[in-house]
Parts: sequence; structure tokens; C-alpha cells
Amino acid sequence: MPRYEYQCTECGVRFERQQHFGDAPITACPECNGEVRRLIGPVGVVFKGSGFYATDSRKKTDEKTASKD
Ligand SMILES: [Zn+2]
Repeated sequence: MPRYEYQCTECGVRFERQQHFGDAPITACPECNGEVRRLIGPVGVVFKGSGFYATDSRKKTDEKTASKD
């Protein structure tokens, strides 16, 4: 289950909630019942495809150094 982090805009308290993907986001602060906003997306989700980048830009051979007399 993904975890979401919220922060209250009224009292500033931060808390985490485990929610299903289809669950409605928390809108009320558990402390003061004020308005909360979600800070970050689901924690611990692995984004496939990114972060595994091979730098392949150094394949260009330097032909200028092969100078003949
Ligand atoms: Zn609050």
C-alpha cells in the first residue's frame, strides 16, 4: 500500500497515511481539522525506466589527434 505524506496548512502538523490508489485524499487535519495538502506522492514507488541511464556520448573517436606528417 502506498504511503502519502500530508501537511496541515493550519497548524503545520505533518503525518503519513497509507492509502489505496483509489482512496480519496485526506482533506482534514487529524489535529485541528484544518485544511491539509499532500506533500509528496506515494513513497517507495519504483519508476521503471528512469535512473538507469547509460551515458553513451563518449563514443566519438577523436580523429583530429591522428595527425600525419
Ligand atoms: Zn492542523
